[in-house]
Amino acid sequence: MSSARKPITPKPPRRRERVLVILQEQCKECGLCVEFCPKNVLCFDMSKYNRKGYHPVTACDIEACVNCEFCERICPDMAIFLSDKDEAREAYEKGNLEENTLIPEFELEESEEE
Ligand code: SF4
Ligand code: SF4
Repeated sequence: MSSARKPITPKPPRRRERVLVILQEQCKECGLCVEFCPKNVLCFDMSKYNRKGYHPVTACDIEACVNCEFCERICPDMAIFLSDKDEAREAYEKGNLEENTLIPEFELEESEEE
């Protein structure tokens, strides 16, 4: 067996190809995603009510999101999920989103540009 050490190839930086999308009108404030998000990304927007009368979920720390999908899997109302980033960007830029759809990563980018 050769004792030569294999070269180590560094992995490329992880590219975020998906973004978090929150359909705030579908949220029922059950709290499951807030409780189970391993990075404490999510919280309730206490300044707002949706049409059902609930405070909807929002992202309090989107930069901490690791795209793990826990929130998507646990939400009983399909109100939060990860979406293809390019498709989401196209819809976001064209304003082609349902009312009260939040894409926190894009909103953060916009606020940083201002
Ligand atoms: S994808 Fe994971 S880290 Fe990101 S908000 Fe959902 S549960 Fe939290
Ligand atoms: S799990 Fe779904 S319905 Fe429950 S708080 Fe989160 S987004 Fe809202």
